[in-house]
Amino acid sequence: MWNRRAQRARILAERYQGERLQNLRNAYPSLLDLVARTGPPALSESARELNTTQLDQLIHESWESPGNFSALEFFARAVLQPYAASFPAGLDCPWCPQPPQAGCLRPQADGLAFDLVCALCLRRRPFPRTRCPGCNESSETKLASFTAPEFPHLRLQACDGCRAYLFVVNLSLDPAAIPEVDELAGLPLDLWALERGYYKLQPNLAGI
Ligand SMILES: [Zn+2]
Ligand SMILES: [Zn+2]
Repeated sequence: MWNRRAQRARILAERYQGERLQNLRNAYPSLLDLVARTGPPALSESARELNTTQLDQLIHESWESPGNFSALEFFARAVLQPYAASFPAGLDCPWCPQPPQAGCLRPQADGLAFDLVCALCLRRRPFPRTRCPGCNESSETKLASFTAPEFPHLRLQACDGCRAYLFVVNLSLDPAAIPEVDELAGLPLDLWALERGYYKLQPNLAGI
């Protein structure tokens, strides 16, 4: 059964990658046009200069070797996110094993369950709440939490073992929150952490 599952996963992965990556090209013109018109200056300039071949290459690189964030990777991630999000349950996207975009606390029974959010497909997976997703440190003395009064549902979790941090969005305090969106709002906390020598486990779509 396990072999059949593995084989099935490979078949699905190939089918999705082969056929559906081609379909992503349909999204190029509208993405480039939108960013050229409404993006911040540097990004909109890139949108005007990028051609289909370059975009193909960016997307290919981002898919094959995740984790090398550059300003241009914004375009690859913008195209790939909805594609990766449509993967069937159980089929990881190439970024799933990479550092997560954010953490998420959600009400469950009479407590809170902790999930990590994949930076590309944005699907959530359970993870031990008191462990650093960067280095697996679980000593309480190494893990610190920071909050700011203006974002009561956001918590910055920093690790003194590997100096990584990520945002944890508490859905019990704001049920309407969307972790990958709300963490973008935490910029003042980002700056605070960066000034203290922490680095973000996974830069978001805005490159922060
Ligand atoms: Zn994923
Ligand atoms: Zn760590």
